[in-house]
Amino acid sequence: MLFPIELQGAGTADVESLASYIYRSSYDYGIFVGEFFRYLRKACANNPSFGVSPKAVPTFIKISAMVRVNRSSSAILSALEGSTEVSLGQSRLLFMTSDVGRSPSEVASGFRWCPECMCEWSDLGQQAFFKLIWHLSSVTHCPHHRTELVSECSFCGCNQATYRRKKDIGLCQNCDRHLGKRNPDKPAPTIASSWDQNGADVHQFFIDMADHGSSEESFQGGIWRSLRDLYDHYRRTYEQRDLYHALPKDEWVRLYKKHNQITFKTARRLSYGLGIDLYTLISGNAIHSTQVLNQTWLCELPEGFCEVRVRQKRNHDEVLARLKEYLLPGCLPKPAKDVARELGVSVGYLRYRYPTVLAKLVSRHQTLVRDERRKTKDRATNEALQYFTSDEYSSFPKSRKQAYVHLRAKTGLPKFLLKGAIADVYAVLYSPEVRREDV
Ligand SMILES: [Zn+2]
Ligand SMILES: [Zn+2]
Repeated sequence: MLFPIELQGAGTADVESLASYIYRSSYDYGIFVGEFFRYLRKACANNPSFGVSPKAVPTFIKISAMVRVNRSSSAILSALEGSTEVSLGQSRLLFMTSDVGRSPSEVASGFRWCPECMCEWSDLGQQAFFKLIWHLSSVTHCPHHRTELVSECSFCGCNQATYRRKKDIGLCQNCDRHLGKRNPDKPAPTIASSWDQNGADVHQFFIDMADHGSSEESFQGGIWRSLRDLYDHYRRTYEQRDLYHALPKDEWVRLYKKHNQITFKTARRLSYGLGIDLYTLISGNAIHSTQVLNQTWLCELPEGFCEVRVRQKRNHDEVLARLKEYLLPGCLPKPAKDVARELGVSVGYLRYRYPTVLAKLVSRHQTLVRDERRKTKDRATNEALQYFTSDEYSSFPKSRKQAYVHLRAKTGLPKFLLKGAIADVYAVLYSPEVRREDV
């Protein structure tokens, strides 16, 4: 067994490639890459449980072949997973099976890297590695830094492909300089504009793959399923023009009959032309994407979904005429709420349509309320005065409490109003000054 070495960036769009993992582990284990492969062969021979024939593990394999899905890379992967118990399933370009990406130019021949990413890891004290996405030729600039990827040391030109691993993967195997270091004597790197979207679809594809936890099986035959479904669908709906926007007719026919292999570039063209993202297209779900929707897919809405609220039509003139009646001198002012209810409208309606009339109504009502309150208060004061001064009450005890008990029973006026009036009258009549005069 080997001590386990973590796969960097696992579960993210920035996952490490299998080639990077092997080269990095070789250095950590203190052996060269060729020796590592021979060790894996032996491990397979000694452990039939790996399910890998020793001969299937190559002693030499190109970097570009190591990141594709093929017999050799699968054997290496299984032997490694068996020996280290580390899951490496997402370290290869899983969608580049026999269905997509036969064209050799789609995967860069050696390692490529973003010096800025390397530099950042170094500053943060993190392990350097080569990302899987950097292996794709269509990705020419770092999706994060937008700087152009490089494929050789800017000082000595070493491409880092050597099997003799003498230094950490973040250092040039030839001249020891950090791969994140740019040569000041060389031209500055090109920086892609943010609006260029250089390989943005591919980066999104990697994000989707990471989110869905894709496996080799999730892409098996997927692209063919998508294409056939789309072609059949558009042929049925007589909207083939939409298809031919994306790809010429003869190419469609050749693809439909599987006469042509689908390169990753074709998949990207289709994705762009049809407006269906790469993940959906390559995983075989194009027919379920909303871009394929058309009016024939509409279904009847169930009962209750289509009902439109009937607008209530009002005769505004009539409402206004009736509203004005409330302002006539003989009419007792009423609260706005009551008026609205009697007219069969809302207060909001009155406020919106007839704000001045409403304001007048409200003010009239408020005056009435104020008048009534004042009248009640006057009555309470008069009653209290009577109690303490009138002959009628001469036999009654002249205390505030008795006055309250008697007047409350007589008038039924509110408690606090009555008590207040009695207290006021009592204070005036029986204050020390008054008593002195009396004496
Ligand atoms: Zn970068
Ligand atoms: Zn170098």
